[in-house]
Amino acid sequence: MTKFEYAPAPESTSIVDLKSEYGLFINGKFVAPKGGKTFVTINPANEKILAKVAYASNSDVDKAVIAATEAFKKTWSRTSPSERGKYLYRIARILQERAREFAVLETMDNGKPIRETRDIDIPLAAAHFFYHAGWADKLEFAGVGSNPKPHGVVGQIIPWNFPLLMLAWKVAPALATGNTVVLKPAETTPLTALLFAEVCQQAGLPAGVLNIVTGDGATGAYLVNHPGIQKIAFTGSTQVGKGIARAISGTSKALTLELGGKGANIIYDDAAIDEAVEGIISGIFFNQGHVCCAGSRLLVQESVLDEVTEKLKRRMSLIRVGDPLDKNTDLGAINSKAQLEKIHELANSGDSEGAQRWSPECELPGAGFWFKPTIFSGVAQSHRIAREEIFGPVLSILTFRTPQEAIEKANNTPFGLSAGIWTDKGSKILWTAQRLKAGVIWANTFNKFDPASPFGGYKESGWGREGGRHGLAAYVKVAK
Ligand code: NAP
Ligand code: MG
Repeated sequence: MTKFEYAPAPESTSIVDLKSEYGLFINGKFVAPKGGKTFVTINPANEKILAKVAYASNSDVDKAVIAATEAFKKTWSRTSPSERGKYLYRIARILQERAREFAVLETMDNGKPIRETRDIDIPLAAAHFFYHAGWADKLEFAGVGSNPKPHGVVGQIIPWNFPLLMLAWKVAPALATGNTVVLKPAETTPLTALLFAEVCQQAGLPAGVLNIVTGDGATGAYLVNHPGIQKIAFTGSTQVGKGIARAISGTSKALTLELGGKGANIIYDDAAIDEAVEGIISGIFFNQGHVCCAGSRLLVQESVLDEVTEKLKRRMSLIRVGDPLDKNTDLGAINSKAQLEKIHELANSGDSEGAQRWSPECELPGAGFWFKPTIFSGVAQSHRIAREEIFGPVLSILTFRTPQEAIEKANNTPFGLSAGIWTDKGSKILWTAQRLKAGVIWANTFNKFDPASPFGGYKESGWGREGGRHGLAAYVKVAK
């Protein structure tokens, strides 16, 4: 039989009105940065410059914090909870209306496939605003304590792997609970946050309730240490998270941290292997593996190792790597040169420490940052690729013989964010889940997200939860 070939199916970029230069969003307006410093954001799939973006100086961050403080005192704390909810509903609906524009822009700035931005990132971001809109006037019934009150001004710092979605995870609960926000997007992916600022204008959100300061790590650090901030919410690396925890210890600031992970995806020998293989694929190759809850450590029961590996290789050969704007693409570009180098460095350590690397045949585009879908077999617990977060499309395969051994290996990590369990037996799912030290555990599925479901980690994966009723608790203080 001749191989079925796909015709190119590129999504048009004409829906996006890309500006050559973007300002900071402070007090309801786009403003030029003091001193005029800018940086560029590129499309990692072709390394072309997309736009110049303002680099917030310390005095710009000060201005944003003042705007958020004034808005908290004079407007937002005097806005009734049901009115707050209406703004959130309005934002959610505008996100839905402009979903295609957001999906294309996110794919251009981040490098992830349009299939994912269109079907996952943007719909879920809108869902977070809908969900939290509903809570705005029902906080007393959320089980977070009686008479819950907002902290005031919240500083939020988000990473590049799900730019708009991480914004939604943070901004929606903060506004629903009555806080005002200063948000810093990641340096490589600021554009959808700036488009979101336009949505806030369109929704008539009062000036200063949301402020966006673009910049780099230094901008984030300045925001963390700002005395005008009452709470910090951070998603990113464990290393930076630890630094933030140190920086604010001894202050009265509240803190939530969503950090790294090294999720175990456990395949028992009684699992439906074909379904499990789909779960392994989604667990590690979704979003190029730039996922803190990725199933990056595969734990396979020894008796089914050969079958799982063979089926996994066959399935990996079907993964389409390339132009993220093509609707048939499964695996897009790596977000940045620095991240690509980090993935290479860790994968090379897998080779030198004695694991066996395998990737399917696939042609990678010439320009841009790319990494083939990759698995390592023969991985030992001591290998770096079994211990460190690679944050790329690289899976480490380990084996186990007994359920007890699976638990011990799965928990043998400083992280504790996610895990997956694949088995035919409900009782085994419960037995395993009770013993795993992971904040999110999926059974016979992987990477399922819902705004009503709390997300967060144990150990070095972070503090606190985002989403659901538990996530609301992080944004309120309860009067004593
Ligand atoms: P990162 O350095 O922790 O960056 C996350 C956010 O924090 C970005 O907005 C970053 O700004 C900002 N930031 C950097 N240094 C800061 C500081 N000292 N104080 C306050 N904010 C600071 O993470 P990354 O460089 O994007 O990725 C590195 C690793 O982090 C990845 O390889 C992965 O292991 C992990 N990661 C985890 C998640 C997750 O969801 N848990 C997400 C992304 C990355 P700039 O980007 O502008 O520098
Ligand atoms: Mg970019």
